[in-house]
Amino acid sequence: MSSLVTFNQILPQARNDLRSVGAFNAANLETVLSIFRAAVRENSPVIIQVYQRLFNDERASLIAAMTERLAAEADIPIALHLDHGESLDQIRKAIALGYTSVMFDGSKYPLEKNIALTAEAATIAHDAGVTIEGEIGHVPFGDGLPELSSASEAVEFIEKTGVDVLAVSVGTAHGFYKCEPVLDIKRLREISQCVSQPLVLHGGTGVSVDQLRAAIGCGVAKINIATELQSFFLCGVAAEIKKNGEAFKPVDLYFKPVEEKLTDYIATKIRSFS
Ligand SMILES: [Zn+2]
Repeated sequence: MSSLVTFNQILPQARNDLRSVGAFNAANLETVLSIFRAAVRENSPVIIQVYQRLFNDERASLIAAMTERLAAEADIPIALHLDHGESLDQIRKAIALGYTSVMFDGSKYPLEKNIALTAEAATIAHDAGVTIEGEIGHVPFGDGLPELSSASEAVEFIEKTGVDVLAVSVGTAHGFYKCEPVLDIKRLREISQCVSQPLVLHGGTGVSVDQLRAAIGCGVAKINIATELQSFFLCGVAAEIKKNGEAFKPVDLYFKPVEEKLTDYIATKIRSFS
C-alpha cells in the first residue's frame, strides 16, 4: 500500500541521478488512467498534474480522489500537483483537496511581486507539509516571446521564497511550436551551478529528446508534458469516431483503444526522461 508523495520524496533524488520525472497534465478519467498505467508499467515515479482552470469546478477534486485510489493500489511514488496556481486561494483549495504539491505561478508579475506572493504561497504549502514550485522568467503561452531566467535571479528567488523546485524559462513555450525551439543550455547550466534545487522545464511538447537529455544533465528533474498529451488523446478519439461511422458505440469502448495508445506514448516519454 502506498499513498501520494510530495516532490521532496522524488525530485531531489532524480536531480542527483541526472534523470527527470515526467509531469503529465490530466483532465479526465481516461488521461489519469493512462498516466497511471504507463508509470506502473515502467515502474517509475510520476507526477499527475492538474491545470488551475480545473479547480473552478468539481474536476480537480474528482481527479484527486481517482489518483488517491490508484496510488493506494500501486507500489510507485505518485505526486499530485496543482499546475500554474494563480492565487493563494487556489493554493489553499488544492491543499484541502489532498494535492501533495502546488505551483504558484507569479511569473507574469515583476520579480519583486513574484517573490512576495510566492513566499506567502510557500509558507501556506510548507505549513501543510506540501511542496511548492515557483517560476522565474516567463514561459509564454502560444506565440509570445520568452523572458529568459538568469542565475542571479534564481538564487535570489529561492533564498527569498523557499520554494522546493524552480521552473525556469530557457527558450521553451507552452503549446505547439511552429519550429523546434533551441534551448539555452549554457544559461541552464549556469543556473544549475548556482542552485541545488531540482529545476523544472515547462513546454516540453515538441522539444527533441537530445535537447531534453541535455537539459536533464543540467538539473532539470521535472519535465511538463501537457499539449502533446491532450492533443494525442483528442486526435485518437476523433480517429475512433471516424472509423466507427454513424453506428452507436458505448463511450468506454470508444476510449479504450485510445487509452492503450496513450499509455504506450506516456511510457515512451517516461523511459526517455530516465
Ligand atoms: Zn507550464
